[in-house]
Amino acid sequence: MRLSQSFFPTLKEIPSDAQIPSHQLMMRAGLMRPLAAGIYSFLPLGFRVLQKIMNIIREEMNAIGGQEFHLPALNPIELWEETGRVKAFGDILFQIKNRPLVLAPTHEEIICHIAKNHIKSYKELPQIWYQIQTKFRNEPRPRSGVLRGRQFTMKDAYSLDYTWEGLDKSYALHEEAYKKIFTRCGLKFFIVGASSGAMGGSGSQEFLLESAEGGEDSAVVCDNCGYAANLEVAVSNAPRVERLPESKKREQLFTPNIKTIKQLSEFLRVETTRLAKSLVYNVAGKPTLILMCGTDQLNEAKLMRELGGEFRAYSDEELFDLTGADAGSIGPIGLKNFQIIADKRLEQSNELISGANKNDFHIAHIDLERDISVSKYADLRIVETGELCTHCGKELRIINAIELGHIFKLGTKYADAMHATVLNEEGKELPIIMGSYGIGVERIAACHIEQNHDVNGIIWDKALAPFLVHLISVNAENENVIVASNKLYEQLTSEKIEVIFDDRVGVSPGFKFKDADLLGMPLQLIVGDRNLKQGNVEIKIRKTGERTILPVEKAYDFIAKF
Ligand code: ATP
Ligand code: MG
Repeated sequence: MRLSQSFFPTLKEIPSDAQIPSHQLMMRAGLMRPLAAGIYSFLPLGFRVLQKIMNIIREEMNAIGGQEFHLPALNPIELWEETGRVKAFGDILFQIKNRPLVLAPTHEEIICHIAKNHIKSYKELPQIWYQIQTKFRNEPRPRSGVLRGRQFTMKDAYSLDYTWEGLDKSYALHEEAYKKIFTRCGLKFFIVGASSGAMGGSGSQEFLLESAEGGEDSAVVCDNCGYAANLEVAVSNAPRVERLPESKKREQLFTPNIKTIKQLSEFLRVETTRLAKSLVYNVAGKPTLILMCGTDQLNEAKLMRELGGEFRAYSDEELFDLTGADAGSIGPIGLKNFQIIADKRLEQSNELISGANKNDFHIAHIDLERDISVSKYADLRIVETGELCTHCGKELRIINAIELGHIFKLGTKYADAMHATVLNEEGKELPIIMGSYGIGVERIAACHIEQNHDVNGIIWDKALAPFLVHLISVNAENENVIVASNKLYEQLTSEKIEVIFDDRVGVSPGFKFKDADLLGMPLQLIVGDRNLKQGNVEIKIRKTGERTILPVEKAYDFIAKF
């Protein structure tokens, strides 16, 4: 491609609304332009990157037996009503005004609809179906360029099985394919989430990429042993509260206007770990008191799993009616008809202080063994930075992360809702067991730039670079330079090497070099008058900055080897 004839609108200035490097550079390098909030036009250079990513994904999906579909983005709303997802998606789902249609944010319903109508026997399973297609989501807060858009490209895949073991196999195939895809895209990623147990049906894993500025998810990682988990499920070795040799007699303390653990700790001059914080929830109609240690934060997802279902907070009035006190003065002593669940750090502890269920009073010398009937001890806390890894004992870090992809064992949820079944050997109807597997294409491009750039611009990996070589004719007015660089361009392109050729006349060398660094192709092939007099050209490796001067006729070999 000759730059003199191409559309590549670069920007010198950083657009004021672009906060993170990938957004800034995708704009500055002319990969894309915004059309409306969360909606971008991909320009030729940017679209080449998306195509490279899509090809890598396609190769790896085909390698696990995936068959490529192209499903409609316009879907009849009835299908989405069948699974209850018009309600579940809520405002995120774009609905068409003048027809009962929606713009699909994902395609489980359509896949299930096809399977239901056209797959009859277990003999036709397993299947892996996928597509690479535009998705529409009315995200409330589109941000960071294409990292969270309202229209984006997704590779979505679906596995169809009739046994749980089959689902496990399909899921494992996708896990391996995803590792290969992200590795080939030159990304440093990690995987979080737990696979399901023997029965399958509910496992899910996320492929994440660390990004302080672009990350909207929180994860806990151990740099030493590689442990990684979503903050929602992460565990650490937080020390137990020590059981002291003597449990003293309980005593009521006057603590006027003390509302928080920090205030209480300062007022009583007691370490926060000896202060047991009480939280009250309505669990299936039963008042439940959760005891947490000091300043520890309750992890609602962990609590949800312990309770096996939903819970809700009480209003201030309800709390007062149930306990006789306001939130800061509630405690486990003297409560009637409550179930009490405590965090593991408090197991067997004594000499604790907690609310007295009377405003402005606390109770000291509480012994959980002696004074309270705790129905369950469980890990309920949010892990904090600096706590120790349960696997290797080294310090954990909490990081921001971007979700690149998600693999998910759906089980029979969709088949049940849409009556998608197959007949087994005995002619019995079995629900189709599904998995779903998504990757964001634009996110890969943006994440690659997040991890591969410097102050001058993008540093593309060979695999994703729009072109391998950026050929620069330094003085495009000079006859020798014109002849030599055109010859190189013809030679390389005829050898199927992708070259972008800066053949612009009247553009200063400095300007061309700046553009080359900004666009970030892996190799810069520099043809200048001075080197050419000795029969030489120069090659610069963008990533390392390393420069090599070599005879013109050796340039091809160098590039081919690279
Ligand atoms: P997120 O938590 O980031 O909203 P999600 O859980 O909604 O993601 P999925 O429905 O699993 O995402 O979609 C699969 C993949 O599609 C995601 O892993 C991500 O790479 C991509 N993706 C999802 N939403 C967007 C978006 N609004 N813009 C760009 N890519 C997206
Ligand atoms: Mg989402």
